[in-house]
Amino acid sequence: AQLDTLDLIVLVALLVGSVAYFTKGTYWAVPKDPYASSAVALNGAAKSGKTRNIVEKMDETGKNCVIFYGSQTGTAEDYASRLAKEGSQRFGLKTMVADIEDYDYENLDQFPEDKVAFFVLATYGEGEPTDNAVEFYQFLTGDDVAFESGATADDSPLSSLKYVAFGLGNNTYEHYNAMVRRIDTALTKMGAQRIGTAGEGDDGAGTMEEDFLAWKEPMWTALSDAMGLQERETTYEPVFSVVESEDKSPEDETVYLGEPTAAHRAGQPKGPYSAHNPYIAPIVESRELFTVKDRNCLHMEISIAGSNLSYQTGDHIAIWPTNAGAEVDRFLQVFGLENKRHTVIDIKGIDVTAKVPIPTPTTYDAAVRYYMEICAPVSRQFVSSLAPFAPDEQIKAEITRLGNDKDYFHEKIANQCFTIAQALQALSPNPFSAVPFSLLIEGLNKLQPRYYSISSSSAVQKDKISITAVVESVRLPGASHIVKGVTTNYLLALKQKQNGDPFPDPHGMTYAITGPRNKYDGIHVPVHVRHSNFKLPSDPSKPIIMVGPGTGVAPFRGFIQERAALAAKGEKVGTTVLFFGCRKRDEDFLYQDEFKAYQEQMGDSLKIITAFSREGSNKVYVQHRLKEHAELVSDLLKQKANFYVCGDAANMAREVNIVLGHILAEQRGMPSDKGEEMVKHMRSSGSYQEDVW
Ligand code: FAD
Repeated sequence: AQLDTLDLIVLVALLVGSVAYFTKGTYWAVPKDPYASSAVALNGAAKSGKTRNIVEKMDETGKNCVIFYGSQTGTAEDYASRLAKEGSQRFGLKTMVADIEDYDYENLDQFPEDKVAFFVLATYGEGEPTDNAVEFYQFLTGDDVAFESGATADDSPLSSLKYVAFGLGNNTYEHYNAMVRRIDTALTKMGAQRIGTAGEGDDGAGTMEEDFLAWKEPMWTALSDAMGLQERETTYEPVFSVVESEDKSPEDETVYLGEPTAAHRAGQPKGPYSAHNPYIAPIVESRELFTVKDRNCLHMEISIAGSNLSYQTGDHIAIWPTNAGAEVDRFLQVFGLENKRHTVIDIKGIDVTAKVPIPTPTTYDAAVRYYMEICAPVSRQFVSSLAPFAPDEQIKAEITRLGNDKDYFHEKIANQCFTIAQALQALSPNPFSAVPFSLLIEGLNKLQPRYYSISSSSAVQKDKISITAVVESVRLPGASHIVKGVTTNYLLALKQKQNGDPFPDPHGMTYAITGPRNKYDGIHVPVHVRHSNFKLPSDPSKPIIMVGPGTGVAPFRGFIQERAALAAKGEKVGTTVLFFGCRKRDEDFLYQDEFKAYQEQMGDSLKIITAFSREGSNKVYVQHRLKEHAELVSDLLKQKANFYVCGDAANMAREVNIVLGHILAEQRGMPSDKGEEMVKHMRSSGSYQEDVW
């Protein structure tokens, strides 16, 4: 084909880009997407350099196994990477990991018979797909599935597709592992052939990791049979190359020191702000809500003015945390990286399909402080993968035992609630300097933002988001140390700094409060907003019943704030009932004064019904109060009240659901299963809404 001027410009640009790339950015910045090679560009995909056609992609890259993930908090993504690695190392599969959002599925009917697709899918909230899997889910479970070739669901269009499925769910939710179940059903129905069982991990029972480990062995056996694979001796093969760069300094403007994106690094972040591009928001006010010394609950006001971010009452805000300095130091010391913490590293995928989860180039310090989940519970498989790199033979034997013996692992590591660095510190005083950094990137999650139910009303303060967060700081029975939540302790440190508390940072946590290149100075925190379905009725004259003990009260503070404002404007506002519970009224009764003021304003139409679990001899919880007020609850539901539950998913939400079923049955003279059914019906019609975690 003849080259016209535009082609020439593109070619020259690509050549320049390639030179920059192969010279490791010495002359120019490294292009963000190393796949934008001239070969791809010339066949017409120059715009993005990426194909959305998975069949084509696998063909081009010589893969026979794709592992798709639908992930919200990173666990499904982590499991996908682990499966990819294991498939490649143990069975010689040519694996690639793929964000399910990055590919089209209209051509899954063209998926070659000699290849396999894995689906590692988390279920989110009320049986919903994760954000990145919404379109895939809607396509496969929709009414009229039609593939590119014209095949429809009735033609067994997927008969050439072999697949493996694992779901991540939580049995305390109504729709346990709904995502993997529905996708599995849809795929089978369309003729696809599942290999092994559709695995289900249960976060509610705390057995996710063990469920995964127990599921994957028989799955590998079944897959080996189906594809004629031979298991082989494994040696560690890094997924990423991590190269220390002598000629770069951490001051270089190309180096990421904790910034979430290139625009942030360049000091010019711009919207739209999203889960991939947080807004560095000022915390304009922060205060303590508890009156006891040993526990903390934070109220914070985060400004989104001028950011173009918006929220609605009932939405969630995500906070992007920073790891505690003390834990960063421990981690670097345990892996022998302390003395080169500020060395610049370039991280690249060794395989073209490997996605580097950390912005690069960066430093060891920044990677560990801002990008890696170093404080999370430790996986047995990960510990096991460290054995070849142990400082001596005795420790190697101990690690191998921990990897192979589930009970021993639980006793020594899981039950102690150790982080990886704490666990290794307990095993050996010597550093594990031989562990490749690539293995740490592969084995640990990306540091995840945490969600908070917004505790303000957008109608009252549209530019300021409130959060109500209890600080996680637990001394567990049997554990030798205090387990500290990553985000909430970071927020506590920000609050202490903002208020000039006399003894900031009592546990020597030493957070980098001012952030990368001091970009968070003046008390800022990276955030994004996630819209939810947890919403007030559009007609404010409808009554509402809210059950929100502890920090479960967060969204209800916003609901009450909104209804009080409407009432003040003279609008007709329906009866508003809040069931709130805590330990003692003078210790942890959140927003007590505010609620009192609203009651004075709204009179009888606002009822705050409290349960204090540690005041009398009997422990009283919200569900007991709910029962005591059965008649009121039933009457309001007859008047089409919405019923809301927020907070602890494991116990409270489940019990409230049961109690409400009993109330309905009793008050309306029906058998108890009819009551249960009514609650189910309320859920599906949207008049029973949960915001639980
Ligand atoms: P993390 O570091 O994430 O730790 C969480 C817990 O894990 C710890 O308490 C501990 O029990 C355990 N843990 C940590 N490390 C280890 C280890 N090494 N070994 C074993 N166990 C360990 N919270 C609120 O306070 N208010 C809200 O309004 C709110 N709304 C939410 C809304 C949604 C939709 C969701 C999903 C969650 C919400 N949460 C809310 C919870 C919040 O997102 C966080 O999970 C919580 O604040 C803890 O975060 P963290 O980073 O401090 O703790």
